[in-house]
Amino acid sequence: MTSPRPPRTLGRAETFKRDWLDGFAGAYGRTVRKVPGAYGVLARHAPERGRVAVVIGGGCGHYPAFAGLVGRGLATGAVVGDVFTSPSAEQVYRTAREADGGAGVLFSYGNYQGDVLHFGLAARRLAAEGIDSRTVLVTDDVASGPADAPQRRRGVAGDFMVFKVAGAAAERGDDLDTVAALAGRANDATRTFGVAFDGCTLPGASEPLFTVDETTMELGLGIHGEPGVRTVPRLDAVGVADALVDGLLPELPSQGDGRLAVLLNGLGNTKYEDMFVLYKRVHERLAGHGLNPLHTEVGEFVTSLDMAGVSLTVLALDDELAPLYAAPCDTPAYRSGGATLATVAPVSTVDDALDRPEGPGTAGVVDRLLTAGLARIEANEHELGRLDAVAADGDHGLGMTRGMRAAVTAARAAEAAGAGVSGALLTAGTAFADAAGGASGALYGVLLAETGAGLDGDITATAVADAVDRAAAAFVELGGAEPGDKTMLDAIEPFRLALREHAGSGVVRAWREAAAQAVRAAADTAELAPTKGRAARLAQRSKGYADPGATSFALLVSAIGDEWERTN
Ligand code: ADP
Ligand code: MG
Repeated sequence: MTSPRPPRTLGRAETFKRDWLDGFAGAYGRTVRKVPGAYGVLARHAPERGRVAVVIGGGCGHYPAFAGLVGRGLATGAVVGDVFTSPSAEQVYRTAREADGGAGVLFSYGNYQGDVLHFGLAARRLAAEGIDSRTVLVTDDVASGPADAPQRRRGVAGDFMVFKVAGAAAERGDDLDTVAALAGRANDATRTFGVAFDGCTLPGASEPLFTVDETTMELGLGIHGEPGVRTVPRLDAVGVADALVDGLLPELPSQGDGRLAVLLNGLGNTKYEDMFVLYKRVHERLAGHGLNPLHTEVGEFVTSLDMAGVSLTVLALDDELAPLYAAPCDTPAYRSGGATLATVAPVSTVDDALDRPEGPGTAGVVDRLLTAGLARIEANEHELGRLDAVAADGDHGLGMTRGMRAAVTAARAAEAAGAGVSGALLTAGTAFADAAGGASGALYGVLLAETGAGLDGDITATAVADAVDRAAAAFVELGGAEPGDKTMLDAIEPFRLALREHAGSGVVRAWREAAAQAVRAAADTAELAPTKGRAARLAQRSKGYADPGATSFALLVSAIGDEWERTN
């Protein structure tokens, strides 16, 4: 499936996050610094004793969200995931611990399942260490869920509104509960609607994730390369501005006094002049409805790689929110109100702590089996990405490759240091979650780690079946999926049951029988409509395509079975 066409991007897929983050920290060393040993940045002045730390984050590809919004008066720190992929719990934890000044941490980020899982895990770990935190999820995207279920809506450009209010409240010295309450109010008062004219391209890719016909455009898109919820004939500037305003007016929050903060946000490939052309009409329309677009920004705030498109966000202001939104701040991407510019010498942009040590070459059993899994995943990386792009963000192939590479490296080092199967799998699990990010990163991490935790004796068929039962239970507890939801679970369940059923025929035979079941079950997911994860919103589009997670699970367990049989 590898394309002979050259990549359309400058950044290389494998090193993209690290490369741009190094350049970013080098360029803006006067305002931000990198968190040692983590993919995160902190404001130069942080941590500050007694002041609440506002920690934001998410996948990259959205610049200036999230790292570009770190600085005095806005976010204290940002955690940086891979492209369109949540940062791992470990990265969130390290960044937040470094940001905390003793007054606690406000986490705020877009409402995506991967981010919720990883930030949630990090918050639990911080709590265990006595660091208090609160979380405000941003849910401004009106196209991503019904008005009566805002908790199902996702965060897009409205992130900026919520972060700005939270950052100003923290800067003012408000306590953690107050900062959280104000950020929550800002979110309640924020709505966004977006349109796209063309898709976006992942770093290193030679094809965009999706394309839009020249004669049409997409309404109600997300910011991860998901197609919109409705395709309409392409409109002129007045038509686009009207579509944006009409998408928002029925959704306008009832609070506030008609004063609006407005954000016309470019998604990555739309000219500023074109956005001003649009804004001219947007302003007329809002004013025509008796609204007062008082505080407007036109520019790029939350992008989606090189996507051609725009979104319109409004925040309904009141006497409490208005001064916070207008308060001074100074970040690499956004400055307001003449905040002071401290001069600080730039720091080195190289962070050796991020280099993972390569273990020695002697392969233990976990190393060998996982290496076979990695090879199968690498050979199918493109296909997994393609399946994920049908109704979601297209990152599953990349995430799986990254996760498996890290898992192999970790298992190799653990086995070289004398660990048994259990210890090597435990280490591999956390390494996988750390490197892969995303919903599937945390979930695969749990599968590997819990299987390891359950395998501390002899490797018999029954012991393996018991360990897989335990791992599947932990998987369900963390992810909340049910059979039929069109997730990995629809391959895991038949695998688990077949493993038990064939336990009498020896561990390798049983594993291979179970893997064959997983392959069939993964193919059968093509007929299901998903209700979990990002894919849920675009359920119908994925009809006829297998679930990416179920597919990668089947690939992994069958590669492991083949290798096990070969070397048994
Ligand atoms: P993300 O959704 O964060 O982009 P990936 O694209 O790597 O993560 O993985 C997507 C796959 O993860 C889905 O195809 C599905 O199988 C699995 N998945 C996502 N959420 C859940 C969940 N809550 N429970 C079980 N599996 C899930
Ligand atoms: Mg995905």
